[in-house]
Amino acid sequence: MKLRQSAAFAAIAVLALTATACGGKSGSAGDKQAAKPGQSGAPQLPTYTVAKDVTVDSPTFKAAKARGKLIIGSKADQPYLGFEDQSTKVRSGFDVEIAKMIAADLGFTDKQIEWKTVDSGIRETAISKGQVDYYVGTYTINDKRKKLVGFAGPYYKAGADLLVRKDETAITDKSTVKGKKVCSIVGSTPLQEIKKPEYGAKVVELAKYSDCVQQLLTKQVDAVTTDDSILKGYAAANPGKLKVTGHPFTEEPYGVGMNKDDKALRDFVNTSIEKHVQDGTYKKIYEATLGLSDAKYVAPPAVQRY
Ligand code: GLU
Repeated sequence: MKLRQSAAFAAIAVLALTATACGGKSGSAGDKQAAKPGQSGAPQLPTYTVAKDVTVDSPTFKAAKARGKLIIGSKADQPYLGFEDQSTKVRSGFDVEIAKMIAADLGFTDKQIEWKTVDSGIRETAISKGQVDYYVGTYTINDKRKKLVGFAGPYYKAGADLLVRKDETAITDKSTVKGKKVCSIVGSTPLQEIKKPEYGAKVVELAKYSDCVQQLLTKQVDAVTTDDSILKGYAAANPGKLKVTGHPFTEEPYGVGMNKDDKALRDFVNTSIEKHVQDGTYKKIYEATLGLSDAKYVAPPAVQRY
């Protein structure tokens, strides 16, 4: 199980270029294989107490209660954040756990969660059409998106950075991408940023993060840009192959996306986040997921209610 999980984890991230099946206990993303969430030796995930007799005056919540399950949107190809093991279908990562923590407060067990993989380019559509009850997937809160969806949070703050091959010396920060092929993802904020003429980059747009990483490993592109949190996960999942340049150049506060007009759900989720930052659950989640890549723990920003 451990071997299979580990192999799948590496395979999806690097497409079998490094099929390292032995996980070390190291928490660093150097040349050693970092531990995976849930692997023995890794910090333990907290358990979530499923609340009873919850009432929330939220149309989304009421519909979920009536159907007996909660539909959560997430990513499936981001190691340590939102990852789905293709052989076991088990989901792991920081965003997955934040989503489960909120679900428990709403009174839903793990078994009552239906996961939907929703990539960056179709998030607003999936949420506004009610295809998911809420969405947790490296989703930056911004005013443009707020016109289409509602956001609880932020529950984390990332920043766009650059992922390059380990032997790369020319690309060191955002000022060194002129004329370079830089891959990013349709519908993401770092794609919009890197397309600005001031960078002078040759931008390659793809739908999935794992596709950009594959192109980097096979030298079709020179760099991948997106949030440092995501890039550190890929670097950790590809020991000795990739590195993050380490100079973030945007601010990406992560929110839980939901129906734009469902203020009751938004308030509830904000309270859930605040409560679990205070009781230490949030930190435990972090240490057992994202903290296993090279992303150091930082206290989350205060939630912004509106
Ligand atoms: N946080 C950025 C965004 O929401 C990039 C990550 C992603 O595509 O999910 O666009």
